[in-house]
Amino acid sequence: MEKSILITGGAGFIGSHVVRLFVKKYPNYRIVNLDCLTYAGNLENLKDIEGEKNYVFAKADINNEELLKEVFNDYQITDVIHLAAESHVDRSITDPLAFVKTNVMGTVNLLNTAKNFWQDKENHLFYHVSTDEVYGSLDEGGYFLETTPYDPQSPYSSSKAASDHFVRAYANTYGLKTVISNCSNNYGPNQFPEKLIPLCIHNIKQNKPLPVYGKGENIRDWLFVVDHARAIDLVFHEGKTNETYNIGGFNEWKNIDIVKLLCEIMDRKLGRDKGASAQLITFVKDRAGHDQRYAIDADKINKELGWKPSLTFEVGIEETVDWYLENEKWLDSVTSGDYQKYYQEHYS
Ligand code: NAD
Repeated sequence: MEKSILITGGAGFIGSHVVRLFVKKYPNYRIVNLDCLTYAGNLENLKDIEGEKNYVFAKADINNEELLKEVFNDYQITDVIHLAAESHVDRSITDPLAFVKTNVMGTVNLLNTAKNFWQDKENHLFYHVSTDEVYGSLDEGGYFLETTPYDPQSPYSSSKAASDHFVRAYANTYGLKTVISNCSNNYGPNQFPEKLIPLCIHNIKQNKPLPVYGKGENIRDWLFVVDHARAIDLVFHEGKTNETYNIGGFNEWKNIDIVKLLCEIMDRKLGRDKGASAQLITFVKDRAGHDQRYAIDADKINKELGWKPSLTFEVGIEETVDWYLENEKWLDSVTSGDYQKYYQEHYS
């Protein structure tokens, strides 16, 4: 095998798309998907590549030092693409320590394992996947650049910011070869329905209220998950050592406008009267410390690596809705059990 890449969090939303892309595109790489399968990890996401010769799944927690060492040794890991994380802002507000444990301590544990395992550090890459939320909140104008000072506002973004700092510290202190990318909000197939877009699709289908924080005026930039995976592929292969790349969709939306758009699409797809689903919109108490606007300037990755989104939002969102409507079983299985408990506690 030319490379043996450890992808952490590969059973989650973005990770599963990255694993699939690498397994299919690079038959000469071994792809080791390491995931402890929290509520957000689901091997169903990778059913189609399960039998591929260059794919292996290892169930492990990134906080488990012994298991990590074993995996590095057994599979002679040459590179890491690190996506495993607690990823939902609302959950970070109710349980910040879980985010410190996985996103900060887990990342440092992984960095340590890689540093100790790789004697010839210049031949190996530690790629850390992060978020634009580390830059804080914007008002009307301006964009996040790679040079924008960090100003995280939520326990989630603070834990991701801390992990980014540790990655840079390992590059600076121990000579680890690293790269970081900070991406805006992703949407697409396999996203856990606690996040805005799949939550709305699921609730519209079930005729349940669509909870919208505050007045729905918060603005996010949205990128189709497959385009994020393509960007990760490019940064992994062609990104400059120890650099940061911002990844974004050039696609800003107010939350309320996204919800209204989903209502229109769902009315059409479900054969409902125009405006029927919009009746379900329910404004709820705003999220504590809710960031007003995130907006990425993705000029660097565009100019240096030639990346840009391949899909318009109009096409991507139709594909996404179709996927959720065609994969009811997936949605039913992830929304039973713990999800119901979380949903009741959070929205009622
Ligand atoms: P996700 O919650 O869907 O998936 C996270 C995965 O990590 C799950 O499979 C889970 O089982 C696994 N995991 C969690 N804790 C673990 C642990 N201790 N050990 C091993 N595995 C563990 O998340 P996602 O939305 O796919 O995000 C993936 C990465 O991308 C995260 O690092 C996140 O911060 C980053 N990111 C996400 C977005 C977004 O819009 N979703 C945007 C930018 C960056």
